[in-house]
Amino acid sequence: MTAKQSEPTKPTGLALLREPFPAHQISKLPKPTKAQTDAVRQDFKKGIRCQICGAWHHPDVVHLDYVGHAALTDRLLDCDPNWTWEPCVEPGLPNPGGGMWIKLTVCGVSRLGFGHADGKTGGDAIKETIGDALRNAAMRFGAALDLWHKGDLHATDDEPEQPAKPVQTPVITEADYTLLIQLFEATNTDVKGFCNYFGVPAVKSLPADAFPKAKAMLEKKLAEAVKQDDTLAGDADFLKGE
Ligand SMILES: [Zn+2]
Repeated sequence: MTAKQSEPTKPTGLALLREPFPAHQISKLPKPTKAQTDAVRQDFKKGIRCQICGAWHHPDVVHLDYVGHAALTDRLLDCDPNWTWEPCVEPGLPNPGGGMWIKLTVCGVSRLGFGHADGKTGGDAIKETIGDALRNAAMRFGAALDLWHKGDLHATDDEPEQPAKPVQTPVITEADYTLLIQLFEATNTDVKGFCNYFGVPAVKSLPADAFPKAKAMLEKKLAEAVKQDDTLAGDADFLKGE
C-alpha cells in the first residue's frame, strides 16, 4: 500500500464549501450591547483598545467569530471559479429597508441570502451589505456553519426525540420553510423556542395556516432588530429610539 492510496481525497465543489475555515481566516467582530455603546459614547474612557479586534470599545463586549470577505471569496473561487451572485427582488422576501437579498450560485446551485449594513453608512454600507449577504447565503451551503451556530450543532442528538404528532392539517411548503429559515437567521431566532411556541416538533411540521402568523412575528422582530442596529450608526442621533 502506498501513502498516496491512503490519503483521504480532498473535498471539491459544494463539499469543499462545508469544510471548516482555518483559524487564521476567522475574524472577530465586536457586538456591543446598546448600553455598552452608549456608555463609551458618553465617556470614551469607559472603553479600551481591544486586544482581540483592535477597536475601541467597552471592555465587556462580546465578540462573534466570522469569516471575512476575502477568505470567503477565496473559498468560493476554490469551490467554483464561476460562482456568481446577483441581487434578488422577489415578492414575499421581507425587507424592512436598507438590506439586500441576493441569489448566490455555486456549482450551478442557487440559494438566497440577506445582508444589511449593520449601522455603516455611505460606500462602506454597500460593501458591508454585500459581504454580509454573501456570508448569509454561503452559510446556506454550509460555509462556516459552525461559526453561525452559537452552541454545539449536534447537542440535540442526545435529547429524547419528541414523538411527531400526527399531522392533521397541511404543513408549510418548501418555499415557506426556506423563508422561515432565512428569517430565523436574520433575526437570530432560537428555532427550538419557535417550535415550542407553535407546538411543532420541527419547523417543517408547521401547519400551513400558522405560517402567516409566524412570518408576521419574525418580520416584526426583523424590523425591530434593524431599528436597533441603527442605534450603532455613529453620530446619527436622530435614529435613536429614545
Ligand atoms: Zn474587540
